[in-house]
Amino acid sequence: MFNLLKLNLVSVAIGLSRRLFRSRVIYSGAILCLTLTSGASAAQTSVVIEHCSVFDPEAGKVLPDRTIVVRGTQIVQVVGAGEIVDFPADATRIDGRGKFALPGLIDAHTHVVHVLDYAHLTGDVVLPLYLAAGVTSIRSTGDEIVAATLVARSAAAHPERSPRVFTCSPLLDADPPIHRGAGQAVTDPAKVSALFDDLARWNVTTVKIYAGTDRPVGKAIIDESHRRGLFVTAHLGRYSAQHAVADGVDGLEHIWSVFNYVIPAEAAKQPGHRGRLDLSNELCESLVAELARRKVFVDPTLAVFRNMLLLPDVPEVHDHPDNALVPRALREFWPVYLQRSGCPQGGPLEDRRREFAKFQELTGKMHRAGVPLLAGTDAAEPQVTPGFSLHQELEMLVESGLPPAAALCAATLTNATVLGEKDHLGSISAGKMADIVLVTANPLDDIRHTRRIELVIHQGHVCRPDALMKLVPRE
Ligand SMILES: [Zn+2]
Repeated sequence: MFNLLKLNLVSVAIGLSRRLFRSRVIYSGAILCLTLTSGASAAQTSVVIEHCSVFDPEAGKVLPDRTIVVRGTQIVQVVGAGEIVDFPADATRIDGRGKFALPGLIDAHTHVVHVLDYAHLTGDVVLPLYLAAGVTSIRSTGDEIVAATLVARSAAAHPERSPRVFTCSPLLDADPPIHRGAGQAVTDPAKVSALFDDLARWNVTTVKIYAGTDRPVGKAIIDESHRRGLFVTAHLGRYSAQHAVADGVDGLEHIWSVFNYVIPAEAAKQPGHRGRLDLSNELCESLVAELARRKVFVDPTLAVFRNMLLLPDVPEVHDHPDNALVPRALREFWPVYLQRSGCPQGGPLEDRRREFAKFQELTGKMHRAGVPLLAGTDAAEPQVTPGFSLHQELEMLVESGLPPAAALCAATLTNATVLGEKDHLGSISAGKMADIVLVTANPLDDIRHTRRIELVIHQGHVCRPDALMKLVPRE
């Protein structure tokens, strides 16, 4: 993300098939059997959380006094007070009184190789950070595919310390691609079908169009994605939002992929215009209405945009406590990457703060208009700490005008939907995967309460944040 500034380009994309999802669940089960027989780790046979409040993302409410029964990797029962609960005598019982169970959080925009590779780290090293932060699934949105597949495989083999990782196509881009490692040049629409034959062998769940792609290639990628039942998202640059949306793109990555296309030519002539943009202009109104009408999933990734605008000269961003949690190699690489990327973009800090406020205003406007929003971060870009930055993203979504329930719905059920996993992830209900975060205060009262994590259940494994944090080397 950051080095796009230097190149003065703007935008990025995703996808998935239900058929692939099903095979993933079976695969995960197979891995679990392997770990059980090897003794490396064992999901609790049965876990019961008694008398807790449960956040229901569909209703946008907390349901009081529920008991959740987990057997193996799945939730088998969620019952109210006075209803019959069925669990074996040897089940692990957890007192949930005064506590709140949230569906496992999902980060819709991460990189499991990109950036980390520059810091000489492999993605598996930071995976426990996600789980410690209650993030039980992540969507890779563009990485070198062999390395990303290995990280996903490592994660699947170790659900007791890693989130579930969904992989993505390389960043489908112009020639040469902006990111040499994560990118792949596609310049001829006639060659797109052959490219997808290759992607099918890698079982990716997302297709991503990148900033250098033009409209003819972009449209060919969207059409081919749909022919194959894949979800396609875009970080836009040369391909305008108006064109990509008209061509049927399913998602847009980054607030830029909307904001950069709602600036009237007249307004663009004024100095500092981005921070003073009137978002009630006709261009903005019509694009937002179209995004809502077509239900295009927009993933604002506010965390990385705040950092891009405000680093390195705003201490509360530069020295956010979350940043101390990552390995030293990554911490030390961040300022190098920032400098390489030409951050900050320049201009007075006040203008940059105003610009970020406009990004948040546009986010709120899209939510009110009915545009489905995702929650993604762009970890592990500078000062975007894997896992914990999703809590910052939730805070910024709420600051943008989303009620806490809507922000939490984005990070759970809506993110699960774009992964094609709505039937398996994203809420606490019988038949779904046992991905649960137990917190000690109500996040609907204050979204920052999502950080008060007592335990995380991932695929039936009960995980303690403190123990997970010890698995990540800080030095
Ligand atoms: Zn990204």
